[in-house]
Amino acid sequence: MIKVVKFGGSSLASAEQFAKVGKIIHADKDRRYVVPSAPGKRNAKDSKVTDMLYACYELVEAEEDFRVPLMKIKDRYDTIINGLNLKLSLEEEFKKITQNLKNGAGVDYAASRGEYLNGMVMACYLGYAFVDAAEVIFFDENGNFDADKTNRALSERLAKEERAVVPGFYGSMPDGSIKTFSRGGSDITGSIVSRAVHAACYENWTDVSGFLIADPRIIRNPKPIKTITYRELRELSYMGASVLHEEAVFPVRKAGIPINIRNTNAPEDEGTWIVESTCQQSKYTITGIAGKKGFVSVNIDKDMMNAEVGFGRKVLAAFEENEISFEHIPSGIDTMTVFVHQPEFEGKEQAVISAIHRLAEPDSIELEGDLALIAVVGRGMRATRGTAGRIFSALAHANINVKMIDQGSSELNIIIGVSNADFENAIRAIYDIFVETQL
Ligand code: ASP
Repeated sequence: MIKVVKFGGSSLASAEQFAKVGKIIHADKDRRYVVPSAPGKRNAKDSKVTDMLYACYELVEAEEDFRVPLMKIKDRYDTIINGLNLKLSLEEEFKKITQNLKNGAGVDYAASRGEYLNGMVMACYLGYAFVDAAEVIFFDENGNFDADKTNRALSERLAKEERAVVPGFYGSMPDGSIKTFSRGGSDITGSIVSRAVHAACYENWTDVSGFLIADPRIIRNPKPIKTITYRELRELSYMGASVLHEEAVFPVRKAGIPINIRNTNAPEDEGTWIVESTCQQSKYTITGIAGKKGFVSVNIDKDMMNAEVGFGRKVLAAFEENEISFEHIPSGIDTMTVFVHQPEFEGKEQAVISAIHRLAEPDSIELEGDLALIAVVGRGMRATRGTAGRIFSALAHANINVKMIDQGSSELNIIIGVSNADFENAIRAIYDIFVETQL
């Protein structure tokens, strides 16, 4: 059996953290392929190596001296290397990096060195082979990830290594230059490697014991989520949960490989399993609650709207013209409401209103800002009667005015709109009714 293990920056911030990681890897001989991030923060005031590299690159661009900040980065690695008593010198590597930066290697090259160097340290520490991601992870001419080419090269390369470290976050362009994924992208690399080696599971080690039913900043000690499906996670992550990079689910999902989110600082915790499908019902009707503040509703009224072919398209064209994406569009017989992100919308509101008038000729348009959307998600909802009823009676008891309700056709989620001011109380009320009262 093969397990791929990815470790986030906080799991690799210091020699002590590396030692915990080493213990975890050695505890299970199936943990054969390791994907590290760059060293993260050691404490709240510390900087992530990736951020230091971006800052360093700004100096390169401004043609200022970048040697001092680059040496600070080298110190971070040397402290880890010395703390682990490794016989490894990054002297030559840093000379090469300095040279390449002077010769115009781009910002992605600079940022990727965090993972590249950490991969070297990790490979030396574990005695595993080091496989540079630039040789096995590919992007096409347009900068899009090339899944097929990568999968072929990576499978072939790793078939030759019993155990290996592949640094996260980057790959190469057809011309050989380095390109990174978006921030947090080592999660994606871990998923790509898992697919290439047909792993039995992809363990993603971080500093929390998986997903929680609700945001711990709102609910004190929320219960953990044991198992969540990919679809449920999409419904939740899109509303703001941030443990795993959104794009990391795609490569493994295609291959039917489950992801297990684990905590490096509490390896005994089982964490959260993310799976394609499961016959396990969650303990509660709902799997999770997530939400986001800062939406505007644009309410458009027109008599006989329901009979007018193309009305929705005309309304949405007004948003498209202004390059605004919409979040939800609940509708009634003579009304249609478009929910958009307030910060994106604010500067363009008058342009959008006039475009709607021009294109769709409505009777009236009304705006309401400072709204929050809350997604209540759960595969258990399909089989349970009265879920919506329970949510609304809980909200009514908490004196919260519900501004919008939208149930996805998959019966996997119910989206509720409330005012920003009611956001936290609404989440508490919903959590209490489903989790605290164990319904
Ligand atoms: N080091 C990169 C970042 O900070 C990628 C990662 O950690 O996944 O975004």
